[in-house]
Amino acid sequence: MAATVIDGKVVAAGVRARVAEGVRDLAAEHDGRTPGLATVVASDDPASELYVRRKGEACEEVGMRSIHHRLDASAEPGELLDLVDRLGADDEVDGILVQLPLPSQHDQDAVIARIDPDKDVDGLTATSAGLLAQGRPALVPCTPRGIVELLRAVDTTIPGADAVVVGRSILVGRPLAALLLNEDATVTVCHSRTSDLADACRRADILVAAVGSPRLVGADMVKPGAAVIDVGTNRTDDGLVGDVDFEGVREVAGAITPVPGGVGPMTIAMLLRSTVRAAHYRRGLLAFPGG
Ligand code: NAP
Repeated sequence: MAATVIDGKVVAAGVRARVAEGVRDLAAEHDGRTPGLATVVASDDPASELYVRRKGEACEEVGMRSIHHRLDASAEPGELLDLVDRLGADDEVDGILVQLPLPSQHDQDAVIARIDPDKDVDGLTATSAGLLAQGRPALVPCTPRGIVELLRAVDTTIPGADAVVVGRSILVGRPLAALLLNEDATVTVCHSRTSDLADACRRADILVAAVGSPRLVGADMVKPGAAVIDVGTNRTDDGLVGDVDFEGVREVAGAITPVPGGVGPMTIAMLLRSTVRAAHYRRGLLAFPGG
């Protein structure tokens, strides 16, 4: 039987509706003040501009404020660090998102380290990553948080499941592995040096591919009935494709995300959710940011 196709647009719409409610509640309690997300683009990469514009539009759709800062691609490192410091000190700002990658004159780690951890809605600071690694409530990168929501949307049992995450980036693979471990899955992380990727994948009840390699995961690598989440976005002559051979794998899996329309829509929705939660935390309405 063909797999259930997990519709990320539908799940994301539900998250956005709940975020809009959270924004209204916060405004009602705080003299109409809505959460504010500050975005920073410091490169002249058109894709970065596009992503950030979409994030700004999504903020406004749920009633949040979007505060955009654009630095020249040749800006000095100190200029970017000063801006991140100012956003940290600005009470009108609840979330800070610095769009990566940065031009080569900037030290990415140093920029991330300057983000106020309470406003780290991308979950990239060492504080956020450390809290997550310790199994404590944290602001978590948006894509992995969205993946867990997608699994829940199709009632995937996470506790006790064998979960295999292919990819170990700080933005996706590593935080996702920590989230699944915190949800009591037994987690294996694979990467470019994994000796037998197919064998590892075949053991997965939950299989997540976050690699950036078109159709790397074929039907012969998937356990019948597994939940398969495809994070990959690869531009090919056939258009946008994922890291999973969708047509082949859907015949074996129990549930599968398409590309596009699976993980992608969740990423912005979870950014909005993190921002509204950070705002609640900063106003003393939540015990922890994120979570
Ligand atoms: P990344 O930083 O390039 O990491 C890729 C990971 O894949 C690395 O850990 C790498 O291993 C591993 N890898 C490479 N070749 C492999 C192979 N043949 N077998 C097993 N593992 C292999 O990428 P990323 O930022 O995590 O993104 C991954 C993909 O997800 C990209 O296509 C990206 O565009 C997409 N993405 C989508 C969204 C969304 O919202 N839809 C969000 C984020 C990312 P090593 O560590 O050993 O090098």
